[in-house]
Amino acid sequence: MQDLRAMTLEQTCEFAEAQGWPKFRGEQIWRWIHAHGARTFDEMTNLGAATKARLAEVATIGCLTVAEVQTSKDGTRKLRLLTRDGASIETVLIPSGHKTTQCISSQVGCAVDCQFCATAKLGLKRNLDAGEIVDQVYLARKLLAETEPDRQLTNLVYMGMGEPLHNYDNLVTSLRILTHDKGAGLSARRITVSTSGLVPKLEKLGGETVRPNLAVSLNAPNDAIRDEIMPINRKWNISKLLAALKAYPLEQRRRITFEYVLLAGVNDSLADAAQLAKLLRGIKCKVNIIPYNPHPEAPYARPSAAAVDAFQNECKKLGMSTYLRIPRGDDIDAACGQLANRANGSPLVPLRVRKGPPPAPNVE
Ligand code: SF4
Repeated sequence: MQDLRAMTLEQTCEFAEAQGWPKFRGEQIWRWIHAHGARTFDEMTNLGAATKARLAEVATIGCLTVAEVQTSKDGTRKLRLLTRDGASIETVLIPSGHKTTQCISSQVGCAVDCQFCATAKLGLKRNLDAGEIVDQVYLARKLLAETEPDRQLTNLVYMGMGEPLHNYDNLVTSLRILTHDKGAGLSARRITVSTSGLVPKLEKLGGETVRPNLAVSLNAPNDAIRDEIMPINRKWNISKLLAALKAYPLEQRRRITFEYVLLAGVNDSLADAAQLAKLLRGIKCKVNIIPYNPHPEAPYARPSAAAVDAFQNECKKLGMSTYLRIPRGDDIDAACGQLANRANGSPLVPLRVRKGPPPAPNVE
């Protein structure tokens, strides 16, 4: 059985031709799935009964199912979704004025092991395929249409569970599907891919025809701190990361976003701010300061409001463009770094106990 949702338009046309159908039949099917959000062959009203019967024999439309929707007091909604093999992933819808941003997952769990992140505690179970990535968007659109018909999905961020660049081929296929004007038709300018810094894949992404905005989870002003909280830094340190970013072909008027999770007593001093400013000088960028969202599995605390203010003011004084990200959905564990497949009220997986500093993750 071939999963049609995971295919690009070209692949679907090839599939149609392999069935002995004209190429345009493939485009019809693709439009049903990606422009109209069809979840069954029965919804494809311009296909004949024989075509639908054949489709049911040889293909499926890979669908996620909604296991749970949790709504935060700030309006953020977290959807826990099940894949066909029973894996559980999460996506978050964040309303802000007229805008609605969706944060989507790219893997079941994650191998990168950032020390402050709840997803890391799951380890990596598997990659999501391209169909499972795009279906998160279609389910969110469906939910919005059913519950808030006046609200549109405006922005998409690959910042949920997983490291998108560690699932490179499916990431790029999903971007091609979502931005195709005959499909979901999202603008690449409104899509952001966030990475912990897989340097070779960053370089590869720069050569793709579809190029989303780039966010980099930096979180430290020097290698000593980053080695400690993001073991991937032992493989690709800050200077290698920044060299790749400086070479990244940014389009006009775009800049790189650096995410900086502020951890009390770890990376939030004025000296850290000064070192950060020096580090990023000359890079077209902005910095999102994210006060840490505590969860019981990591030994960190959120800095006081005064410490957050002082850090941001120092950054501004030193000429950096900074934005303070107010935690959204933290009462339902939907805020940044909290996604961990926790059903309503249930505890997270047991904490892995490790002796010594974390080793570099096994990612390429
Ligand atoms: S922050 Fe992102 S890359 Fe790091 S462990 Fe969590 S999900 Fe993976």
